[in-house]
Amino acid sequence: AATTLSNSFSAGDNSTAIIIPSKSQPLTVSYRELSAEVLSFQKKLAKLGVTPQAAVSIALPNTYEFIVAFLAAAWQRGIAAPLNSAYKQEEFEFYIDDLKSAVALVPKGSFAKDGAAVRAARKYQAAIAECYWNGREVVLDVKDEGKLKGKGNQKVEKAQPDDIALVLHTSGTTGRPKAVPLTHRNLTRTMKNIKATYDLSPADRTMLVMPLFHVHGLLAGFLAPLYSGGSVIVPLKFSASEFWDDFITYKANWYTAVPTIHQILLKNPPPHTKPKIRFIRSCSSPLSPTTFHQLEETYGAPVLEAYAMTEAAHQMTSNPLPPGKRQPGSVGIGQGVEVAILDGEGKEVPQGSEAEICIRGENVTKGYLNNPEANKSSFTSNGFFRTGDQGKKDKDGYVIITGRIKELINKGGEKISPIELDNVLARHPKVGEAVSFAIPDEMFGQEVAVAIVPKPGQKITEQELKDWVAEKLAKFKVPKKVYFTDNMPKTATGKIQRRIVADTMMKQDK
Ligand code: ATP
Ligand code: MG
Repeated sequence: AATTLSNSFSAGDNSTAIIIPSKSQPLTVSYRELSAEVLSFQKKLAKLGVTPQAAVSIALPNTYEFIVAFLAAAWQRGIAAPLNSAYKQEEFEFYIDDLKSAVALVPKGSFAKDGAAVRAARKYQAAIAECYWNGREVVLDVKDEGKLKGKGNQKVEKAQPDDIALVLHTSGTTGRPKAVPLTHRNLTRTMKNIKATYDLSPADRTMLVMPLFHVHGLLAGFLAPLYSGGSVIVPLKFSASEFWDDFITYKANWYTAVPTIHQILLKNPPPHTKPKIRFIRSCSSPLSPTTFHQLEETYGAPVLEAYAMTEAAHQMTSNPLPPGKRQPGSVGIGQGVEVAILDGEGKEVPQGSEAEICIRGENVTKGYLNNPEANKSSFTSNGFFRTGDQGKKDKDGYVIITGRIKELINKGGEKISPIELDNVLARHPKVGEAVSFAIPDEMFGQEVAVAIVPKPGQKITEQELKDWVAEKLAKFKVPKKVYFTDNMPKTATGKIQRRIVADTMMKQDK
């Protein structure tokens, strides 16, 4: 079985690996062609001077050149470091400096324009190369050799299972983003786990919607399908108006996305030609039971919520395919990953009790880069990784996430799960979106607050919402403060950052 990205798909296979949609001329690439392209690009990286474990920052959007550059960097034993191509200069600087990148790969035309990634790369003397498909090959156009000058013509390497293949940073929901190294072994383990969970095969056609610079898109939307021998459809970015068109035209049969994207798609339903969908996967943020039911009714396909994090090379748990049981509000069961609910001492708590969700498996990172304190507090003595998420298991072992340990609302010692409250509020017929969080309180230390986006054209009062919660939950969970907004702050991947929502809302008080 494959333990590196170099042997994780068949180089001789003539079936379709990748489709890049285009109205005029879609690009279809077989596994055989992909392998040849990656090998040829690997040689270009070796010629430029990429040595084992040198970081290759990839500031390219979801494109064929991203895919080729990413795989080639990993095959060459380099560390692929995908970056959001929409970052501003300061953000590029942070990531390029953090990894001491040897080279930065940027889109065609960035050099002449002196784009943000180019400026950041130059500041840290990384080599700068433009990278694009010219209709025949993926070009590596070296614009500035930077610190690789005189170090070119390296040999073509062979990746080893314990080489770092990828470094991504966590989203920064609870603080500063942390650099997470993932080895070929970590990645291939997740690829096998995801293939097994969803029974992925060469017959499957995945519609990629998530960015490739986070584990969700990279592992679940791209690498696992590739490992399974199916085809992946790779549009430049998610577009609500083109999604179903592409889905139907290229005969996709499943997709994975964050809840925000599912909600956008529910508002832009497929045309009369109903697509045949095998299943829909939801991950990275809590999927409310309301949205779960809407999705299943609209598409007539099972909706499988999964739970993942960067440190686990993405997936930890998922609801299973039928005939397995799906449980709305639960992220399902461990999928090739041990999942335990452990107390502060690392002891398992009784079934049903809430404590920290901890994981152990071949997919899990060995520890953050340059962060000994975080590494010390993140692992138990028996090798479980502490996710920072609070949760419990039901009697069938299904995991229910109740919040992030750092985000639980602690009202005078009473712990309140913001997710539970969000879900109750989201069921109110006039509520479009609800995000709960703690605000400082003189009496209790913390109090419950909530930001509400009403449904279009709806008016709700603070009292209506408080009464609604009081009917359904214990009195201490009723929000003391309700903020109304029509613009909930979100990250690039549609994640809610409660910290930021709280700060934004509390500014209204000033
Ligand atoms: P940081 O670690 O820097 O604070 P982050 O945890 O948001 O950022 P990611 O690795 O992108 O960074 O996200 C992992 C987290 O996302 C999980 O720990 C969990 O809190 C949340 N998450 C993932 N899937 C789900 C889900 N299905 N339901 C609820 N939360 C989820
Ligand atoms: Mg995290």
